[in-house]
Amino acid sequence: MGKQSMLKAVGSSETGTFGGSLMKALLIVCFAMAIGWIISSFLPRPIPENVHVYFHQSYLDRAFQRADRSYLATGIEGIVTFLTLYLFVTWKSKGAVTPNMSAVGPISSRSALLLGANLALQCCLLLVVVGLPFAWYKGYYLEKTFGLSRLTLGGWFLEFIKGTFLQLIVYAVIGGVAAFVIVRFPTKWSYILTILFFLGSILVAYIYPIVIAPLFNKFVPLEDETLLSEVKGLFAQADIKVDKVLVMEASRKTARSNAYFSGVGNTKQVVLYDNLIQNQPIEEIKLVLSHELGHWKLGHILKGVLLTTVGTFVILTAFSLAFGSSGATLSTADFQRLFLYLVLFCMLASYALTPVSSYVSRKHEIEADLFSLELTKDPDVFIAAMVSLARANLSDVSPPPYIRWFAWTHPTTLERIALAEEFRSSLEAF
Ligand SMILES: [Zn+2]
Repeated sequence: MGKQSMLKAVGSSETGTFGGSLMKALLIVCFAMAIGWIISSFLPRPIPENVHVYFHQSYLDRAFQRADRSYLATGIEGIVTFLTLYLFVTWKSKGAVTPNMSAVGPISSRSALLLGANLALQCCLLLVVVGLPFAWYKGYYLEKTFGLSRLTLGGWFLEFIKGTFLQLIVYAVIGGVAAFVIVRFPTKWSYILTILFFLGSILVAYIYPIVIAPLFNKFVPLEDETLLSEVKGLFAQADIKVDKVLVMEASRKTARSNAYFSGVGNTKQVVLYDNLIQNQPIEEIKLVLSHELGHWKLGHILKGVLLTTVGTFVILTAFSLAFGSSGATLSTADFQRLFLYLVLFCMLASYALTPVSSYVSRKHEIEADLFSLELTKDPDVFIAAMVSLARANLSDVSPPPYIRWFAWTHPTTLERIALAEEFRSSLEAF
């Protein structure tokens, strides 16, 4: 009954039926994808013969064991999350509205803003509570068991709380703005929200290094004179002007080693984990850095934002086509249903589209790897750096193919090594 009245209010009965079927189909696709994920976490993985050239069997056993446990938890988490949100949306759509809001007469854009923020907060809190055991298991228990985390349980929980607060703010803002736009511009909301999403993503990418990252970690400028002059030489060689190379004090929290590039315009910066500087030779640090410069030079942040904007446009347009955007004025109860369906639809559709974003991300990583190989012309150092990074992070160097296809944002360590070998052959050919 609840669904029926919403569909009548937001579109013709035909589009409404189509919307209902589309939602069901999407739910089934997401379930099937998550089940596939769980099954593949139990299947034997392909182990290429050359793996033992780079990794000892005892390393592989530990890495695979950690990875398999983490995959299983992720698969179950997906199913539990869809189910919880689906039940919540169905229950909330049965007509219940906040008592102090009138269910009679069309909703104003101002009340929609408040209701949207409120509903988004409720969804976010629900997802946080449901996700907590998985976050603890993957982010604390497994990290601790396999010697990666150096945090206490209290320290981990503090990080979790900080992350949750940030998430709640983001959800409330997005929910409020989206609700306002939907009611204020009933026929054009999907276009307007896409543009706002793009601008918001650029803003977040801009403020991330100066506002968000410092909430979680301490950063200091790179001071090691030798390394700094090597780094500057590398930048000059790549014809890149960078004034910000920062060191993240990661070693207090983790044994993991990494580097990343973030920011837009004048907040652009390269960040190296202190673990990387302490544990890896200077040639390998330069290699890792040149990979990050590749992302910079090739505009991968902007390309990533553009891609998610296209994804957002597709999802919002599909929703507005399926559920109708007749421009009819909605009552509070109808709006609440429409909004909750939109939340569920966005979550399911972005899960189903994960393989697309993973694929594009892997392409970008390959481009950055090639950039670093061309800049350094040293496949041996490249391979050594990949092996060191894998060891420091206890990486799954040969993940199950389905899981790699679905969620691997980087090529696997063995694929990256193969790329360097290929590059070596091409060097020798000249
Ligand atoms: Zn990268």
